[in-house]
Amino acid sequence: MLPIKYEGDVFRPPSEAKSLILQATIGCSHNRCTFCSMYKRKKFRIRNLDEIKKEIVLTSRMLPHTRRVFLADGNALAVPTEQLLETLELLDQSFPGLERVSLYGNPYDLLEKSRAELIKLREHKMGIVYLGIESGSARVLERIKKGVTPDQIAEGALRAKAAKVPLSITVLNGLAGLEGSDEDARENALLLNRIDPEYLGLLSLMTVPGTTTHRQFSRGELTPLGPWEMLKEIRMIVEGLNLSNCTFRANHASNYLPLKAVLSRDQEKLLASIDQVIEQKAPGSLKSEYLRGL
Ligand code: SF4
Repeated sequence: MLPIKYEGDVFRPPSEAKSLILQATIGCSHNRCTFCSMYKRKKFRIRNLDEIKKEIVLTSRMLPHTRRVFLADGNALAVPTEQLLETLELLDQSFPGLERVSLYGNPYDLLEKSRAELIKLREHKMGIVYLGIESGSARVLERIKKGVTPDQIAEGALRAKAAKVPLSITVLNGLAGLEGSDEDARENALLLNRIDPEYLGLLSLMTVPGTTTHRQFSRGELTPLGPWEMLKEIRMIVEGLNLSNCTFRANHASNYLPLKAVLSRDQEKLLASIDQVIEQKAPGSLKSEYLRGL
C-alpha cells in the first residue's frame, strides 16, 4: 500500500492513469464554476511542504522507478513558485528516472507566474499543464463564472507557450445550450487558434444535479444539446481550427463519438469521418446516454 493518505476524492486527466499522484493542494482555489462539483466539499489549501516531502521520500522507496508524477488537486499550479520548485527538485532527486511532472492549472494561475518562473518550472521537469478553458466565448465564460475572459486565457496560455511549457487544453461542449451552440463553437475555434496548443481535448457537457448549470438547463433557461447537436458543435470547432501540430482527442467518457487525430494534419479526414456519421445517422453509431460518464 502506498504511504499516501489522499484527502477526499482525487481527480486526474485520463492520460495520467499511470502516474504517481501526489496532492500538492487540496481542492480548487477558484471553486466557483457553475457546472463543476468536483471540489465543492473541499476547502482550498496549499499543502505543507513537509507533509509532501514525507510522502515523496516514503514513496520513492516503494516505487523508485516512477517516471511520471501528477500533482493534484484542482490547480496545483496555484502553489507559489518557490515551493513548487522545491517539490519538483525533491521529486527529481527521489526518482532517478523521472521524466515529467504534470498538474492542473487555471488560466489565472498562468497569469500569476512570470515567463521566467514558467521557464524555471519547465527546466525542473514541469512537463505539461492541463488547462480547462471550457469555452472561448466571453458570454459563456461569464455565465459559468470561470473568472477569466478569453483575452486573459490567451495571455496566460501564450505566456506558457513562450516558456515552452506544453499545454493540454480542455473545452466543454454544450455549455452555451442549443441557442448559443454555433457562436460558442466559432469562438472556441478562434481562441484555440490564438493559443495553438500542443494537446486539445473536447468533453461533452453532462450536467451535475445540485449545480447552477444543472438548474439553468432544468428550468429551460438553456436548451440541452442532443447527441447529434453535440457532434455538430464538435464538427464546427474542428472545421474552424488552424493548428500547427496538436494532438486532438474527443474520446472522453462523456463524448458520444470517440474521435482522435493530429491537427491540422488529419483535419480533412476527421471532418469527413464526422460527416459520414452525421449523414448516415446509423443506429448505434453514437454512444447511448447510459454509457456516458464524467
Ligand atoms: S476551475 Fe476547474 S476545478 Fe475549479 S471550479 Fe472551475 S472547473 Fe472546477
